[in-house]
Amino acid sequence: MAIERTFSMIKPDATKRNLTGKITAKLEEAGLRVVASKRVWMSKAQAEGFYAVHKDRPFFGELVETMTSGPTVVQVLEGENAILKNREVMGATNPANAAEGTIRKEFAVSIGENSVHGSDAPETAAQEIAYWFSGVELVG
Ligand code: ADP
Ligand code: MG
Repeated sequence: MAIERTFSMIKPDATKRNLTGKITAKLEEAGLRVVASKRVWMSKAQAEGFYAVHKDRPFFGELVETMTSGPTVVQVLEGENAILKNREVMGATNPANAAEGTIRKEFAVSIGENSVHGSDAPETAAQEIAYWFSGVELVG
């Protein structure tokens, strides 16, 4: 198995409820290492750009609104099979469908306020890391 990097966000619904540490602990317990991390309060333009792939979906306006409603923690995670492993520990998009023990099962409020983001493929991981971090910020 290859060592990969993936991009993760702890969303405003979670930072507002002071869950940054608990969510990061779940990632670390799954064997993922936080190799870069910062807190950002994203602008509307940043949120629209990050989620541009969803711009024609009916929930896009709501998504941009929730993502700009408070601070987000953007992170780069590293580990074996990190992209898939992170998706597993996150759980399903809708917390009603998320498996026991996953972050979304434990902490998410709703499908819109579902506490975390994680890249879904190597190409999106590379794009999303580059969207928020410069190379010198990937510390290891
Ligand atoms: P994931 O975050 O699991 O990769 P998607 O990429 O499909 O899910 O969607 C991106 C984000 O958009 C979701 O995490 C969620 O915050 C929001 N979202 C997706 N579907 C809906 C929906 N039906 N209603 C409201 N928000 C949604
Ligand atoms: Mg997605």
